[in-house]
Amino acid sequence: TLRRFSSHRVLCLAGDGVGPELLSATKLALQATGVNFSFKDMDFGNTFALQNGSPISEDHVQAVEKIGCVLKGPIDITASGSTTKPVELRGQCFSSANQALRKLFQLYANVRPAKYLEGTRSKFPGTDIVVVRENTEGMYTGEEVHESKDSIVATRRITRQGALRVATFAFEFARAHGRKKVTAAHKANVLRLSDSLFLDCCRQAASNFTDIEYTEQLCDSLLTGMVLQPECWDIILCENLFGDLVSDLAAGLVGGLGLAPSALYGDGGVAIFEPAHGSAPDIAGQDRANPTSMLLSASRMLQFLGEHTASKMLEEALEAVIREGKDTTPDLGGIAGTQQMAAAVAKKIHA
Ligand code: ATP
Ligand code: MG
Repeated sequence: TLRRFSSHRVLCLAGDGVGPELLSATKLALQATGVNFSFKDMDFGNTFALQNGSPISEDHVQAVEKIGCVLKGPIDITASGSTTKPVELRGQCFSSANQALRKLFQLYANVRPAKYLEGTRSKFPGTDIVVVRENTEGMYTGEEVHESKDSIVATRRITRQGALRVATFAFEFARAHGRKKVTAAHKANVLRLSDSLFLDCCRQAASNFTDIEYTEQLCDSLLTGMVLQPECWDIILCENLFGDLVSDLAAGLVGGLGLAPSALYGDGGVAIFEPAHGSAPDIAGQDRANPTSMLLSASRMLQFLGEHTASKMLEEALEAVIREGKDTTPDLGGIAGTQQMAAAVAKKIHA
């Protein structure tokens, strides 16, 4: 076990639905690594909005600025009430609290790993894909306008600066994690201007990383290819909408959303670690949610904090618990609860 005198500050935003139970399970496993944390908890999302009228406040933004490292649960963006209203912060308007954090801190790179784990229901051993999804522009700018009563235009924005920074991130990530290949997903055959610019930026980034193989693939045929030969893909670099779909498919290949972590990075030193799934209202409060999505997110967080040994300890303990199958949640075919599964991971770390 590792021992440290100084502690890492982590801002915990539990969020809605299964968020609070996943967070308490994750803290349990994090504490078992022996790394010292100082957690700051703040209500966030729909729970916060019911009291305060908005799911996020200036206090949250300041806490993120100050602490930098955020462990976050999902928020319920479909709940009736304040969360469906646009969010106003610092003189800007955002479509949701998540969008506010992504835009304010320019968290342009959303990393979504999908790795096969023995003991899951996945039928695709050998899958080890990381989707790098652009997260501030593309199809999800939130800009939709009525042209007329019966015609609406949504903006898909690709900028040279935006595409270049996420492409460079993907190659740097590849190098830092010993990955071999980056594939850019696109539809430049149809989206001739925007995706040609996107590819142009990907090629420019690739030229600075000649040690990493670079390929391009039409996004539709990529999906077929991922299902037919999942082991052929390494890092997949996508614009926002394509990345949303490709990463959900990748999560399905390895056994479902309960196994899907994600991390958001920018250039300002802020990073957010959160499950890739939503608030899962159908199972919230029942101690049934698979904590793997947040545990793997927390493992990425440990890497971000420089705690590489602890990150590895956490992942190996989790993999062992899933492989043995005695303390796993219903989506993994087990009968354990969220907290029991996390406690089993904590116990393995100690062992
Ligand atoms: P959102 O609009 O917030 O993305 P969604 O409708 O896509 O929400 P999710 O919350 O993403 O819903 O969940 C989709 C399905 O996956 C639900 O049936 C949910 O119970 C299941 N699910 C999500 N997360 C987990 C988890 N950690 N463990 C087990 N099942 C999960
Ligand atoms: Mg969803």
